[in-house]
Amino acid sequence: MRIDVLTLFPEVCEPFFSASILGRARQSGLVTIACHNIRGWSADPHHKVDDRPFGGGPGMVMMCQPVFEAVEGLESQGEGAATRVLLTPQGERLNQRIVEEFAARKRLILVAGHYEGFDERIRSGLSPREISIGDYVLSGGEAAAMVLVDAVVRLIPGALGDEESVQDESFRMTDAAPREAGAAGEDESGRRLLEYPQYTRPRVFRGMEVPEILLGGDHGKIRAWRRAEALKRTAQRRPDLQAADQNGVESYRQARQDEAGVENSHAEQDH
Ligand code: SAM
Repeated sequence: MRIDVLTLFPEVCEPFFSASILGRARQSGLVTIACHNIRGWSADPHHKVDDRPFGGGPGMVMMCQPVFEAVEGLESQGEGAATRVLLTPQGERLNQRIVEEFAARKRLILVAGHYEGFDERIRSGLSPREISIGDYVLSGGEAAAMVLVDAVVRLIPGALGDEESVQDESFRMTDAAPREAGAAGEDESGRRLLEYPQYTRPRVFRGMEVPEILLGGDHGKIRAWRRAEALKRTAQRRPDLQAADQNGVESYRQARQDEAGVENSHAEQDH
């Protein structure tokens, strides 16, 4: 997989992508991540990338020219059309289903904004997938790009030492019929769950005990207990997940269709 991040502050993202699981995934060749400064594509002699908004108002708006040329320039580098992602608080809210979808792509180009955001023609002309990491406004898209890349890369097979660890995680496990190993998260009919409670040594800490069932070594009982706890916890903390997930299935299917259309049209332009 290849991920290109377009930003005005590559030095903010680069150290994050070099550490821990992401750094190891890069070193082992599972993913190529490159951070690029959008200014490098500016046609302005002073590498200007923003200008005042038409109609007046505060702040500056990111201009079309550098962003269009950056995205198109990277895509022309021989590895074919990418899934274009614009980080914006006005986008579709990121969730695990979208992360899984992106993790299955060969190539992503992420565009992080700054200032007041983007000239609207960047959205209409480049047809990116618009993604928000939550209903609040950051000063720049770098933190959002880091969140998205982290969530995506850890799903690439081999990125985590223990593949099992992603299977039972929050938003990944479902309440669909008991799964075969490796099938978690792939069953679109199931409702996403929060993970069950976890414990480690010591068995008793300040009078608080580890549930007896986890100490007995009966793996069938432990699985059943964990499943029941995950269901209970999800019902208590996130009763909204069921409805959200049903909507998610629909938007996921729609996005797959839209994305296939966009990728086909990029591929046609390449020929
Ligand atoms: N004026 C814009 C608005 O009201 O929608 C906000 C612009 S924000 C100050 C600057 C940049 O930060 C955005 O272009 C985007 O790339 C990034 N950003 C801010 N909040 C974000 C969020 N919740 N999710 C993803 N990116 C975000």
